[in-house]
Amino acid sequence: MRQLGEHFIDGARVPVTPAGRVTVHDSASEAPIVTVVLGDGADVPAATQAARRALPAWRALAPTERAGYLRAIADALEQHGAELAREIAREVGMPLKLSQRIQVDAPVAAWRTTAALADGFAFEHAIDHSRIVLDPVGVVAAITPWNYPLHQITGKLAPALLAGCTVVLKPSELAPATTVRLIEAIERAGLPAGVVNVVLGGAAAGQALVTDANVDMVSFTGSTAVGRRIAAIAAVDMKRLSMELGGKSAAVVLPGADLARAVKATLASCMLNAGQTCSATTRLIVPREDYAACRDLLVRQAAGMTLGDPEDAETRIGPLLSAAQRERVLAFVTEAEQAGFDRIAGGSAAPVPPRGYFVAPTVFGQVPRDSRLANEEVFGPVLAVLCHDGPSDAVALANGTDYGLAATVWAASDAEGEAVARQLRAGQVDVNGARFNPLAPFGGFGLSGVGREGGRFGLEEFLEPKAIQLQ
Ligand code: NAD
Repeated sequence: MRQLGEHFIDGARVPVTPAGRVTVHDSASEAPIVTVVLGDGADVPAATQAARRALPAWRALAPTERAGYLRAIADALEQHGAELAREIAREVGMPLKLSQRIQVDAPVAAWRTTAALADGFAFEHAIDHSRIVLDPVGVVAAITPWNYPLHQITGKLAPALLAGCTVVLKPSELAPATTVRLIEAIERAGLPAGVVNVVLGGAAAGQALVTDANVDMVSFTGSTAVGRRIAAIAAVDMKRLSMELGGKSAAVVLPGADLARAVKATLASCMLNAGQTCSATTRLIVPREDYAACRDLLVRQAAGMTLGDPEDAETRIGPLLSAAQRERVLAFVTEAEQAGFDRIAGGSAAPVPPRGYFVAPTVFGQVPRDSRLANEEVFGPVLAVLCHDGPSDAVALANGTDYGLAATVWAASDAEGEAVARQLRAGQVDVNGARFNPLAPFGGFGLSGVGREGGRFGLEEFLEPKAIQLQ
């Protein structure tokens, strides 16, 4: 079995001072793939000091010069994109076709679209006699999860680097293939030493980064529980924070909407990456009078979602990341079964392949609005259907959780859908199936986080405005 045991600090591979180990298994075969050596805080200062040293020269480059490096990283990642798509499929469980498009091609494109911002973005402008200069925040600690590993790393590194910041990345220890490919790409792109440093580790290494005096900003994507802990620590010395956290996103169906389209799209969103998607629509909120029709549609559509190996062309839904993740998800399912919720599809006893961390696509109907299933993030292939008694009740239900990451609205007309979208507390709202826009701001209200990623808004997260008054 392979072992991963080197940080990338100041442009060189440096052995991890071992504080533990984690073995990553193939999500479908359960075979061990790689052991990752976990560092604790001991090696973190070397990385943050390297980032601090690299900062003056990096921020002195013109944005268009920095953009050139972003494009070089995109090119280097693309060279081994097919291998990475397969590796992420094996680790995380996403079907290969989707893994290529969503886990690799989309983030590679995002490196390039972020680079393109260098041409039009005003890093300086005037307000009366003030010169407003947008300075890089400084040294950024980027801490990322495992579910869309390259996407989440890209959402931080690309804009931070374009802004003129240097970075210490602590990627998820549970999806290491991306880490390996990223380090190789940074080397091939010829990025100056210390501009990006990568430390291996789990919670201890992450925590050491958050408390490190050389770090000016923490950009975190992950669970709300960990995000809260990080925010509390970072507040002590007022580090700038950006937090992309969990979700319980609603799909609101209004009377007169195309129910079949809404149900199909919501189920697909909920089951994407076997439900391991922060912005998945995991609550389908339908008119009470449409519940029976909605139920029939869900029974039929869920039956067509074939479970299987991520590399099998027939597979619609792959396994979950790990045994621990499967147990967590099944605990929600059995709790809902014991509570007697209407099981429309799947469930804890539904057939799944004999090997692999599978959970059958599961749908519960008429889920009470105060239940755990209606309010908490499951992070697995489980949809909750709730009934509403009119548009204002639908809005109240949609806004009724502590989260506010994404939502969809399905209405008889786009104008009606937009009117409801404006009332939702969510960072991203799609009306009548409108497609994802990578340049639009992505992020959450409430417990879904603070700050935005994507496009111009994502770049501004890493810039600190400075006003210089001139006579
Ligand atoms: P997690 O919070 O367990 O871990 C995220 C990262 O934080 C990992 O790198 C981990 O090693 C590190 N970490 C863990 N404890 C830490 C600590 N005490 N201090 C510092 N770092 C620490 O999350 P996960 O299981 O990797 O990912 C799943 C979660 O991420 C879900 O809740 C999901 O909704 C969320 N997520 C959010 C978005 C978004 O954009 N809003 C995107 C993807 C995932």
